[in-house]
Amino acid sequence: MPLYEYRCKDCGAEFEALVGRTETDPVECEQCHSMKTERIASTFSCCGSSSNSDSGMVQAPLGC
Ligand SMILES: [Zn+2]
Repeated sequence: MPLYEYRCKDCGAEFEALVGRTETDPVECEQCHSMKTERIASTFSCCGSSSNSDSGMVQAPLGC
């Protein structure tokens, strides 16, 4: 499963969450349990959600 970084908009905490097939669902903050979290665009999470599912192997993102 891909590991994503999230930031809480309420308390500002940053944490990592394992996201499976529900990657568009909101993630609960680990500290204040707010659902107002946003995913921090890190290495390979900006695109490729609609192509095939071999994730994490591409170093250079295409078409970003
Ligand atoms: Zn929080």
